[in-house]
Formats: sequence, structure tokens, C-alpha cells
Amino acid sequence: MTTDPAADLPFYYGSISRSDAEEYLKLAGMADGLFLLRQCLRSLGGYVLSVVWNVEFHHYSVEKQLIGTYCIAGGKSHCGPAELCEFYSKDPDGLVCTLRKPCLRSPDVPIKAGVFDNLRENMLREYVRQAWNLEGEAMEQAVISQAPQLEKLIATTAHEKMTWYHGKIPRQEGERRLYSGAQPDGKFLIRDREESGTFALSLMYGKTAYHYQILHDKSGKYSMPEGTKFDTVWQLVEYLKMKPDGLVTVLREPCVNNTTKQTPVLPSGRRQRTNGYTPPPGVPLGGSKEVTASPPTERQMLPMDCNEFANPYHDPNDLKKFFINRDQLMIDEVELGSGNFGCVKKGVFKTQKGHTDVAIKVLKSENEKLVKEEMMREAEIMHQLSNPYIVRMLGLCEAESLMLVMEMAAAGPLNKFLSTKKDTVTMENIVGLMHQVSMGMKYLEEKNFVHRDLAARNVLLVNQQFAKISDFGLSKALGADDSYYKARTAGKWPLKWYAPECMNFHKFSSKSDVWSFGITMWEAFSYGGKPYKKMKGPEVISFIANGNRMECPPGCPDRMYALMKDCWTYKHEDRPGFVKVEERMRAFHYSISNKTLPEGTADIAEPLK
Ligand code: AMP
Repeated sequence: MTTDPAADLPFYYGSISRSDAEEYLKLAGMADGLFLLRQCLRSLGGYVLSVVWNVEFHHYSVEKQLIGTYCIAGGKSHCGPAELCEFYSKDPDGLVCTLRKPCLRSPDVPIKAGVFDNLRENMLREYVRQAWNLEGEAMEQAVISQAPQLEKLIATTAHEKMTWYHGKIPRQEGERRLYSGAQPDGKFLIRDREESGTFALSLMYGKTAYHYQILHDKSGKYSMPEGTKFDTVWQLVEYLKMKPDGLVTVLREPCVNNTTKQTPVLPSGRRQRTNGYTPPPGVPLGGSKEVTASPPTERQMLPMDCNEFANPYHDPNDLKKFFINRDQLMIDEVELGSGNFGCVKKGVFKTQKGHTDVAIKVLKSENEKLVKEEMMREAEIMHQLSNPYIVRMLGLCEAESLMLVMEMAAAGPLNKFLSTKKDTVTMENIVGLMHQVSMGMKYLEEKNFVHRDLAARNVLLVNQQFAKISDFGLSKALGADDSYYKARTAGKWPLKWYAPECMNFHKFSSKSDVWSFGITMWEAFSYGGKPYKKMKGPEVISFIANGNRMECPPGCPDRMYALMKDCWTYKHEDRPGFVKVEERMRAFHYSISNKTLPEGTADIAEPLK
């Protein structure tokens, strides 16, 4: 995620100062049109182009725009820094001259890392940690799947989560708080200014409190008077910890706000969550919700707002508990679905930590033995998996019948959901959901499991923004040295979802799951359409063998159709794996999500990546 798109350019120096840039240009001879590129500190992801003309230096700021493109103020947009430089090497378009000669970085000069290189990602992580109390793998998954949404939240509200933020308090109260307790130089707080709706910084130095107004310009940037401008208050604070930028001292120790519901990060375990918000219309609220993030009444629900995101096994000992006592379960009469094995019912799982809504797969008591074994196998597979984008098993219960207890995905199968909600589900929404599915599948691939039944009917939704892969009835764990599973006999197989090698040689691998992912994408982008229309399984086999593929669903973005077709590469050796598939889903997801900022934040929220 951290790759700097300019990192490969031989004339890119990273985060060097203006005077260093001028030194390098002098050393390289000061020819007209000599140029180099360096990182810009002020805007996240931005650059500065330094050019020589007439023995003078000219520095042009290259802004990264909201949709991920780059431009010099007043100039055309370009998809990357390389493309931008190439453009200006042919056309000055307002610069003093064309870029004629790159000032090459010598091999012994490394690209200088910038102060925000890690901060960008750390901001996302820190925010997820603070707001949802997620750690480790769950935090990584949250950051990857929701980066664009998190960036928007951070740009607009992140300071509210910080211990140094004191909300709307008068200057006198700010002073009182600074003077209480120890008063080291650099102790600081940020408060809302009462009259103007802007922020103020109160800072302790030599036992005296100083107050500064934080400017907020028309384009939404924050700065100290005549200081460096930033996209967010948080960044400004981080910067002022390093450089005084006109203040009496750099910021050091935050004056911690103890008055609001600041939720410090606990060293281990999950923080007690507070409850009691109403989700936006149309967003079902499953289970016993406990939410720490700001109540998402105004904003779209994020997967992390749901209990089903984090691993429910808080206590590692819980992992060992494969079996659930019958008295911990309440089974509802409501049927969520059914299959050959029996039916899936709604229920409640009671533990010391509270009650959770669950889905319970109840085995029909008749066809016992074989189906029972199948269900045990499914449970064994599910027990080994824990990822936010995979339905987790909570346990198995042997009572009036064998029951598999799972996390509840209340909004049901993706194909049904989409076919009934065509008008309310946007293409961006589908891309986000399919990106989550690709993350779940990447996890399975990593763990060496093959799903063998990936299809839109087996992608269940917790809500409109949160998808989970389900139904591990056909899944297999591969041996450490195996790359595929060979089925001895063909069974009742979902042929339309299967890759050629599955039908021809009964060989199943993560690559054949990739083929199924392509079909699932097609189903999703056609809002629950039926693949290959009325064709029968054997007809599909020859259709594929003859080089045909399904057409692009109406309105489906070209980049998504191109990915589907790559998933349908005939030879599994040439087909991408889930690492690649997820990367492409992610890139597209990020590129379109940045376009849909909430109103009024367009100038504030610079994409962080
Ligand atoms: P399955 O045989 O696992 O595909 O389950 C059959 C049907 O039961 C699915 O199509 C869903 O409608 C429903 N179902 C299965 N698992 C769940 C779950 N964890 N949460 C909600 N509904 C479920």
C-alpha cells in the first residue's frame, strides 16, 4: 500500500528540501530544462517539480487530486507523476520551458523517506484502532477493505478521536486544563473556537499558556498563520510536533481530554462497546451490537460497525471449544434457507459476553450418516478459518439433531439481494462487496483451502456494505505440498461455476476458485443474473472450449469485465491467483471510491494513498 508511484523514476529524490533540490541541480550543470521531482510535504501524495531555466530555479507544486490523478495548478490532469513529467517534456503548457534533461539521482543517493510516508498508513491504522478497537489481522483487513471510506472519515473527523482534542471550550477553560497538573513546555490541546467554527491551539511554554488560531482556508486546508498547509488538523498537529512553524515551541505532550468519552486503547482484549444508535434506513442491525466508533447515523455503515467483523473468539481458550451446549442456544422457527442437508434457522447464542444472533444449520434427522459426516467435515473446515469476509463457525451442537452454529449474515445471499434491490445498489457498492469477497478468497488461498462452490448464492450479506463467503460443504484443505485436490468421481457439481480443469480432470485448486470468482463477479455486476442463460452444463463446457466467454453485463465497468475475462483464462497456469485478483479489485475499488466524497469535503480530503 505504501508504494510511492514516483519511486521508479530516476529523477525522483523523495522528501528533500528546496535548497537540497537546488544543490543537486547546480551539481548537474544548470542546463535549461534540467529538472527533478521531489515529495511535497504539505499535501499528502503530492510532489514538487524543480526546473532550471535561465540559471534560475522554478518550483512547481504537483497536487494529488481527489480521484487519484495529478496536476500542476491550472494544468491538465495526469494519471501518475511519470505521465505528468512525460507530458511536460513535450509541452511546457504554462511552465517556463519543457522538461528537457532529467537530473538523475546517483545510485549512492537513496530516495529520501518523507515524514508522512508512514504516517499516511499509520493514520488509517491508528484511526481503526481508536475507533473500533481492532488490532492485528482484523485491523489490517479493515484498513485494506475500507481505506477510501476511512480516508474520508479521517479527513473530516479524525481529530475528534484524539486525546488532545477538547471540543468547544472557552479559552479560559483551555488555560485551566493546561495549568492543571504538570506544565512542561510543549504541552498542548486543540479546541473549537466558540465564535467562528475554526480551531485554536493552546500551548504551554515557560509556564505560560499561548493561544494560536488555526487557519482554515477556502480550499479546506489547515495551517498556522503563514505556515505550512495541511489537509487535516491531525496532520498539522503531527507536523507541529516536528517543526514549530512560527510557534514558541514544538508540540510535545498532549493535554489529555478526560471529560469526553475518549476511549483509550486497551493493551489487550476488546473495549467495552457502547450501544444505542439507529442504523441508516435499510441497514439491518444484526446481533447484540456494541459500537465504539462515532454512531454512524449520518454516515454509511462500515463492516467494522458490525459485531461480525472481529473475531468472536476473544479468549484463545474459546478456540478449543468446538462443541456448544444445547442450553446456550435458542432456536427460532424462522427458516433462513434450506438445502439437501436440512434447513438453516435463525437463533440466539448465549454466552457470558452476551447474546448474539446466529444462523443454525440443522440436519434433517433422516438421511443421517452420510450427511452427518458431510456436515462434520464442513464444520472442521470452518473451524480453521477466521477472516472478516468469511462466515465464521461459532460451534457445533449435538442435540435433537446435529447443528452447525454460524455468524448471522442477515441480509442473505448476494444474488437475491441484488436482484431485489437493483435501484438502490450502486456499481461502487458492488465493487466494494466483490473486493471483500476477493479478500476472503485471498485468505483461503493463503491457508491452502479450496472452496469449490464460490458463487453469488454462497456470498452472504451482513448488510448492504458487508459480504461474507459461506457454504464450505464442498471445500477441501490441501496438503502442505499439494496445489490441487483431485476428486475421484464427479458429483452434483455447479458446472457453470467450474473451470475447464475441474470438468476435464477433476482438478480443483485456488486457480479454479478464481474462475468461479469471475462467474460470481459476472452474477454480481448483472444484479443477480443467471450465468450462461438457459444453457445446460455440458453446453457450457463446449461453449468455453470453443473460446467463448459470457458478455460484459450492461453498465459493468471495463476494468471489472477485463478482470472477469482474466479469471476465465483457459489454462490454469496462466490464470491470475487471488493475490493478483485482490490487488486489481482493490485498485479499482479505491480509484472509484475517491470520487464519491460527501458533499463539502471535496477540497479537504486528499486521498491518502
Ligand atoms: P447453505 O446450504 O449453506 O448454502 O445455506 C442455505 C441457505 O441458508 C443460504 O442460501 C442462506 O439463505 C441461508 N444461510 C446459510 N447460512 C447463513 C448465515 N450464516 N446467515 C444467514 N443465512 C444463512
